[in-house]
Amino acid sequence: MTIASLNELEQSIRNVPDFPKPGIQFKDITPVLADSRLFAGCIDLLLGDHQPGTVDAVAGIDARGFIFAAAAALKLQAGFIPIRKKGKLPFKTHEQSYDLEYGSNTIAIHVDAIKPGARVLLIDDLLATGGTAKAAVDLLQKAGGKILEAAFLVELGFLAGRAKLAGLPLRSLVTF
Ligand code: AMP
Repeated sequence: MTIASLNELEQSIRNVPDFPKPGIQFKDITPVLADSRLFAGCIDLLLGDHQPGTVDAVAGIDARGFIFAAAAALKLQAGFIPIRKKGKLPFKTHEQSYDLEYGSNTIAIHVDAIKPGARVLLIDDLLATGGTAKAAVDLLQKAGGKILEAAFLVELGFLAGRAKLAGLPLRSLVTF
């Protein structure tokens, strides 16, 4: 993907004001998914220098993270690991809660999702306050994974989410 199309990627992310509630500027990535060139290009950029053989599994966060993580896993010839909202995974889970602006949220991973020491790439669509990604990192570590990097299509820089992931290599394609 060229620099020009990175700009195109940014232009293709639709801003939807006041969704899902007043005051939130929702970053809608569906126009990127609908364009096969942009979709393929952003998977390549999310992978960075990772190659088949250097990553054992790609973990994606419920729900939009699944789309990018599953495509990346296929490209890396690696497994895909879903990190889901509490109550959705059928087998025994590790759970991790984190604070939201109002209240809290809990995500979960299957206890046997990862082979001990497996090299894991974590992918989500967007990094905002970092609470979700930090909880995902904690879950992957609880499950025995070694996290190589966290990669996001979009980063909302003004929310300083990357501070919560200090010490972990972090990649984001578009920063607002
Ligand atoms: P956070 O835990 O605050 O970093 O929020 C990140 C998670 O919430 C990601 O899984 C995103 O899909 C979602 N999210 C948060 N803010 C937005 C936003 N402005 N637009 C789209 N998705 C968002």
